[in-house]
Parts: sequence; C-alpha cells; structure tokens
Amino acid sequence: MKSFPPYRIQVVREIPITTRQEREEVLAGAAYNMFDVPANKVTIDLLTDSGTGAVSAAQEAAAAGADRSYAGSDSYFRFREVVAELTGQPHILPVHQGRAAERVLFGSALGPGRISLSNTHFDTTRANVELTGAEARDLPCPEAADLDSTDPFKGNIDLDALERTLTGPDGGRVGQVLVTITNNGGGGQPVSMANLRAVRRLCDRHGVPFFLDAARFAENAWLVTQREPGYGGHAPREVAQEAFRLADGCVTSLKKDGIAPMGAFIALRDAGLAQRCEANLIATEGFRTYGGLAGHDLERVAQGLREVLDPHYLRARTAETAHLADLINEAGVDIVRPAGIHALYLNAGRLLPHIPPRGFPGHALACELYLAGGIRCAELGSLYLGRFDDAHELVAPAPFELVRLAIPRRTYTESHLEYVADVLSSIAKNPERVPEYRVVDAPPVLRHFNLRMRQVPRDR
Ligand SMILES: *Cc1c(COP(=O)(O)O)cnc(C)c1O
Repeated sequence: MKSFPPYRIQVVREIPITTRQEREEVLAGAAYNMFDVPANKVTIDLLTDSGTGAVSAAQEAAAAGADRSYAGSDSYFRFREVVAELTGQPHILPVHQGRAAERVLFGSALGPGRISLSNTHFDTTRANVELTGAEARDLPCPEAADLDSTDPFKGNIDLDALERTLTGPDGGRVGQVLVTITNNGGGGQPVSMANLRAVRRLCDRHGVPFFLDAARFAENAWLVTQREPGYGGHAPREVAQEAFRLADGCVTSLKKDGIAPMGAFIALRDAGLAQRCEANLIATEGFRTYGGLAGHDLERVAQGLREVLDPHYLRARTAETAHLADLINEAGVDIVRPAGIHALYLNAGRLLPHIPPRGFPGHALACELYLAGGIRCAELGSLYLGRFDDAHELVAPAPFELVRLAIPRRTYTESHLEYVADVLSSIAKNPERVPEYRVVDAPPVLRHFNLRMRQVPRDR
C-alpha cells in the first residue's frame, strides 16, 4: 500500500516563479554564492532541512498559550517533561539552537589539549570543539568511504579506530566521544544500535563520557526499525529512548527533528557537569528555564517532539525521499547510497567528469540547478571542505564532490520533488554544457558562506 503523510495542508505560502534570465541576473549579482540569493528568488529551497519544516496546528495552538515567565514558566515544565521522557536524563537545559548547546557543553567538558572523537563532527560542532582549544577527530567506519556501498549503517563510528585511539598514546587526552545520529556530515547515514552499545562499552572501559549529537534522532530510530536485525517490531519512540539512555547526555538541535523554527537542548546524567553548563548558560544564553528561547518556542518544540516519532509520519517522509532518489537514479545521476531521509547527496564529480576539482563540480551543479529550475541546494565538495592557498587556488581537494538536496519536513509535495528530478534530468542529458567556476574572493574563516565566485566561459 502506498504511504501518505498523516496530515493535510491548512496554511500555505506562495512560492516564487522566476524566468531563466531573472535567475541568471540574480545569481551573477550574488557572485554565484547561494547564501546571497534572496529567498524570494528561489522556487524550491533545498538548502537545508533546519528550521524550515512546516509547523502543525497543534504546535501553533500550544504556542498561543505559552507562558513567558522568566523563571519556572508552565511552558518550561511542559518542555522538560517531554525531553525527560524521551532522553531519560535528569539534567535538561534549553538553548536557542544546536550550536549554542555545543558551545555550552564543550566549554565545560573540553579544553586545550583535549580530543573529541566522532563518527563525523558536523561543521559547527567541529568549530565549537576547536574554539575550546581541543582537537576534533573524525573516525567514520570504512564503508562510509564507498559512496556506492549499500551497507545499511554507513553512519557508524569505526570501533577499531576508536579502541586504538583510546588505548594508544593519545588515549589519556580524549575528553569525549560524540556520535552524530544520523551522520549529517557523512551522507546522512544512520548509526546502528549495536554500534552505540559498543561505543558505550568502550567509553565505560576507558572512563570517557559518551554524548550524542542527536539532531535527527527520530530519523535514525526509524532507519534502525527498518534496517537493524532485532528492531523490526520496535516503535521508533522505543528505539530513540534506548539510544538516548545509552549515552551520558546529548546536544540536540530541535530545528530538525523538533520540527520547530528554533530551539535545542542539552541533556546530561552528570550533576557536576550539568552545574558547570548551567553557569555558562545563565551567563551567555538565558536562565535555566528558558535558555534563550521564548515561551512559544518551548511549546512548539515540546509539541514537535511528540509528533516527530509518529511512525506514519516517518514512513511517509522516508518514502518521499526514496521516491526522489529513484527518479534521480532513473535520470542517470548517482547519489550516495543507500538513500537516507533528510537529504540526498548527488555525486557531482561523477556527473561532471569534464570539471576538475579546481573548477568545483559540486558548486557547478548547484548553480545549474538554480539557473535551470530555481532550485537552491548546497555544495559539499572541494569548495566547502578543500584547502586553499592565499590566492584562493585549491591546493587539496575534498575526497568527493557532492551536492546536498536537503528535504524540509512537511513542506514540499511529491510533485515539487518530481519537478526537482525533472530539472536534474534535463541537466544530466547534456552535462558537458555545465561550466566551471573559480573563487574570486573568500574570507579566511567560514569560507563558503561569504565566497565570491565567477563562471568560466566554456570553449566552443
Ligand atoms: C544542524 C546541526 C547542528 C547545529 O544545530 P543548529 O540548531 O543549526 O545550531 C549540530 N549538529 C548536527 C548534526 C546538525 O545537523
């Protein structure tokens, strides 16, 4: 039986329809930087699934009844109850978004000379580890390096590498093991419960705290019920609860699986660590019962957390992404396999073999999707992850040239996604027409947000 989303649409927002000529002018005016394209010139926005999901009537109703008291508001207690039930952790701190959770936790748990080990640190996560003076080290499982492998849990951390590091000369400097579920920086791939249990055992043996970066905890739980032996009959809520209880705590952005415009939390088992985090929170985010969030935000995330683990919702969302993946494959474009839930990662390097890494195939494909169809998405290739010299020449390319199509929650219909596949298919018919790009100017930090690029005219 075909799955369908367990909601109907009650409030809609018009999307802009533009002409090719308009888009050419807009993109050139933005110096070919997608982050500088105004949203009202974007037809289908697949830049991120963060804070872009549609809120429910129940979320808005809860928000309307929010309590904005500075201390001990009703909204805080409702938020707390939902998060405590989900995570099983005794200490819960609201923060305004995931990166604030990272800053507060790592500021208390890490520091100069310490090491953070992860399956893959997300970009803001890495930045917040490094800001404390610590080192962020990624240990993805070997299967993750093969984009075409259909291994079900390519988000796993490499347990052998983890054990080697913990028992090796750097073992004493490891301040935390942080597992990202699902692994956003690693193709949106899930992490198995077996992997999380093994991390728990290794961390116990070596006395190292184990945290989750749980932005997509519900989607990870759903993929566990679909792919991991022994979990077939489990409800996604049970799987998520088990995952949170395996860890010593978490940082969780609620702009993803909280289906909210804003919000995040830190949950911790350790009272001393929680106390240090709380002091930092009060100084920099807000009092411990609101942490930088307004009452209506606390209400929206509490209700969003109730809705996101509905198996009908998760099944329909997974089917929507899988449908787009099928259409893209039929168009002859390879994606990182197997398809996850929150995003598809296009293999631009393979589609555009005439463009060398220094011409940025991922960026070229992202620009072409915008020019051909008003679709906005993000490059995850040499532009984002490569190393550059002072003249903005690429000196070390990224291992892969990818483009991420992130799918906002409850926002686009199947026909919107079919349109995306059509546009991609038209590009894939004549990929050699896609031009290269060069960097004109870039800041030394957070390069991809503030780049200026130019198109290299094609030879005829
Ligand atoms: C989005 C994200 C973050 C940061 O959360 P924000 O709410 O955007 O600050 C951290 N980790 C992962 C895995 C994410 O996807």
